[in-house]
Amino acid sequence: MSKDNKKRKFATDALHAGIVPDPSTGAIMTPIYQTSTFAQSAPGKHLGYEYARGKNPTREVLQNNLAALELGTVGLCFASGLAAIDAVLKLLKPGDEVISTRDLYGGSYRLFTGIFAKFGITFHFVDMGNIQEVSAHINEDTRLIWVETPTNPSMKIIDIEAIAKLTRQKNILLAVDNTFSSPALQQPLSLGADIVMHSLTKYIAGHSDVIMGALICRDEALGKELAYIQNASGAVPGPQDCFLSLRGIKTLAVRMKQHCENGRKIAHFLRSHPKVKQTNWPGFEDHCGFEIAKRQMKDFGGMVSFSLHEDTQEAAFRILEKFEVFSLAESLGGVESLAGHPATMTHAAIPRKDRLDMGLTDSMIRLSVGIEDIDDLIADLQQALT
Ligand SMILES: *Cc1c(COP(=O)(O)O)cnc(C)c1O
Repeated sequence: MSKDNKKRKFATDALHAGIVPDPSTGAIMTPIYQTSTFAQSAPGKHLGYEYARGKNPTREVLQNNLAALELGTVGLCFASGLAAIDAVLKLLKPGDEVISTRDLYGGSYRLFTGIFAKFGITFHFVDMGNIQEVSAHINEDTRLIWVETPTNPSMKIIDIEAIAKLTRQKNILLAVDNTFSSPALQQPLSLGADIVMHSLTKYIAGHSDVIMGALICRDEALGKELAYIQNASGAVPGPQDCFLSLRGIKTLAVRMKQHCENGRKIAHFLRSHPKVKQTNWPGFEDHCGFEIAKRQMKDFGGMVSFSLHEDTQEAAFRILEKFEVFSLAESLGGVESLAGHPATMTHAAIPRKDRLDMGLTDSMIRLSVGIEDIDDLIADLQQALT
């Protein structure tokens, strides 16, 4: 529970919400409580901490901070983004149905179809841009709608409020994977979502040095259920990683500003380049999700993908191998710029026909635009495209 109920602006909350100087020493930086257990003065008599899988002071501060940033009341951290998603699915039982989006993060798709489908949960992957299609898949067994927006790597926008209208008054949870936006740009709980999920690995921790995930919700009973799963299944992060995430969050607001500014310039540069056939970035006024993005996001983020006129894997590889400032790597959201080839990297598990159906072409390159000087990033793209 966030104890900080004062209404402050996001950049201030990033530094202060849920964070108090350490009560035992006054340390400004939350200490790394590297301990598995806590001494009791008599059986059951302790200072609020018993065993660190259940509760660790460093993790607790991070959880409270994240709850505040997502406008929730309960925050829970996990050993990875996927462990956080895994915890949400453990709310379900055999026979339950889940509706999700077609161009879903590959790891989420694998967890749904490779693990949870075996336990009798049915998954429907639909075009979530089409609300009628979502609505048509809802039946009495539907328990969860899993949204990711903007989508990866096509950068499509899903209308969170419109989906929330379908789940409201029904016994259906709406969960939003908010990894691509971070709470600095989009706060799904305020748009009607029940659960927000993050891979903290990306923008929130922000420095490519941590693997971690989180869930945030507003409903206390739901929070209790998820906390039960967090402790019972035990996929918790270590205190040192929690410290690194807390440290990263302090600059989340300023980093996101720079990611968005650089992303905007790169999107426009790519769009006007003769070798580029299509640039996917939700900030273009003719992007099909522009109006929704403008409504539900504060800015358009630092993720940009593009396809070439020469639509082959080889043409994409030639560019990727020439980059000098962009690094060829999986992942996103760190301070340094990364480039990837979704068809052979993040989305390799998806059959080619399905990939093409969702606009993921052979030549598509996905950029996670970092916070380097924009002139150097544009120069790097210019030389790699030549
Ligand atoms: C990376 C990512 C995940 C998974 O998070 P991990 O921390 O790698 O387990 C989930 N969703 C999205 C959108 C991601 O980019």
